Amino acid sequence: MPERELRIAIVGAGPSGIYSAEALVKAAEEREQPMAIDLIDAVPSPFGLVRYGVAPDHYSIRSVRDALDRILHDHRIRFFGNVEVGEDTKAIAAADSVAPQQISLATLRSMYDAVILSYGAATDRNLGISGEDSQGSISATQFVAWYTGHPDTPADAWVDLLAHCASVAVVGVGNVAVDVARILGKSAEELQQTDMPEHVLTALSNSAIRDIYIIGRRGPAEATWTTKELRELGELAEADISVRGVDTELGPTSQLVVDTSKVAARNVGVVKEWVTRPAGKKSKCIHLRFFARPVAIEVANGHATALIIESTQLTPKGGVVGTGEIERIAVDAVIRSVGYRGTALSDVPFDHDRGVVPHDEGRVLHGTGPVRGLYVAGWIKRGPTGIIGTNKKDAVNTVSSLLYDLDQGVLSNTEPSRDDLADVLEDGFVDHAGWRRINDAEIALGSSRGRDRTTIHDRGESLAASHVAEGTGRTSPASQ
Ligand code: NAP
Repeated sequence: MPERELRIAIVGAGPSGIYSAEALVKAAEEREQPMAIDLIDAVPSPFGLVRYGVAPDHYSIRSVRDALDRILHDHRIRFFGNVEVGEDTKAIAAADSVAPQQISLATLRSMYDAVILSYGAATDRNLGISGEDSQGSISATQFVAWYTGHPDTPADAWVDLLAHCASVAVVGVGNVAVDVARILGKSAEELQQTDMPEHVLTALSNSAIRDIYIIGRRGPAEATWTTKELRELGELAEADISVRGVDTELGPTSQLVVDTSKVAARNVGVVKEWVTRPAGKKSKCIHLRFFARPVAIEVANGHATALIIESTQLTPKGGVVGTGEIERIAVDAVIRSVGYRGTALSDVPFDHDRGVVPHDEGRVLHGTGPVRGLYVAGWIKRGPTGIIGTNKKDAVNTVSSLLYDLDQGVLSNTEPSRDDLADVLEDGFVDHAGWRRINDAEIALGSSRGRDRTTIHDRGESLAASHVAEGTGRTSPASQ
């Protein structure tokens, strides 16, 4: 074990990156091992999907960021926001540039004993049907990024669409589909206390949406949403819920699922109860449709006008076959919520079929052998599944492998350069004190509008709040 300080870089400051840092800090304490951990993120603020994925109206899940923030206060951990792993570039070219500064993985690896990749799954799976690229066909990944205020999603992305969209189809029956449908179904009053950016709140308040169709290719027993989240769909102030009885009739395959899974049984119970609900008179309606797969998006003048679905039946193994019965649902937009997908990073092995980095217990694999000093954690390791807490166990697994390799002398083979990332990057990154100032600015912005906080969407505004864009550069230790 090296007596010298062990230096670890973590790429991605979402839950899996921060939990990896926490596991490392714990090990540093237990082993009395000097350790320096640098957490790098492409956006100015930490917390990844807790900030840009968890629905803004899910207050208790969003409050996980307070627990994550406490971890960042450890003196061994530094935050480097607005820094992207890509090509090496020098400090921001133009004084007014707000683009993230880039550093290559090769440079990072030369500076640290180990690098943990925890950059998540930033893109989405495709449906592979015609019309998917038309205007009005939106990936849930993009839509969620917009309503949570991700700096890379333009503020006006869906403003016009929402203003003219009376009917929308959400494809997929997972928790993201529920989030999207609920956010679209909620009234302005119900959204007012969220931390959504102001432009999002205004666009959703002005939306013309009346009908929201949620489309599942299998049945209510096979849906991947969780019961608590599902129930919320039936409790909205201005949206009724509608389910056809025929969609809740279970065949032998689904019955087996219900008999063996308490979650599936509860979900089916909730959906069946909705069948018996008397028709409501609210201004919006969420229509749940099961056993229907999308086969095309109808397009006119480049814009989605309808979702074409085919009825399905389940195979004995729970797969799906089409029955040939086709239906057209007139919609103005289709939101594709069929799962996130990881993307490759230059010079890192990648499993393109699964959208993950291949690994053995968190050690990145090239062929069958591990890449020395390179590890992976979170969604980019195991795929986009599980709840936030799942990433804690996952991070501990990766850090255990790293510590085992440390004990075996694998990591101390080559001494890293003593270059400090803060010096290599010069100005233009957001440190932890800078993030605290963004946090304070968001609370102040919210308070000026009678809200607890309002997310600052614009990257330049975030950098200005952190002082970076004003040329003050990183925060001096004295000011932290
Ligand atoms: P997900 O749970 O994997 O759901 C994806 C949905 O898309 C499934 O219903 C799937 O149906 C459907 N699908 C996939 N390919 C399809 C196709 N070609 N045609 C039609 N439907 C298709 O993924 P997610 O909703 O994106 O959620 C990702 C993860 O984040 C999950 O672990 C989720 O629980 C978690 N999350 C949790 C919360 C929360 O706790 N509140 C909130 C948001 C997200 P099949 O099952 O038939 O493949």
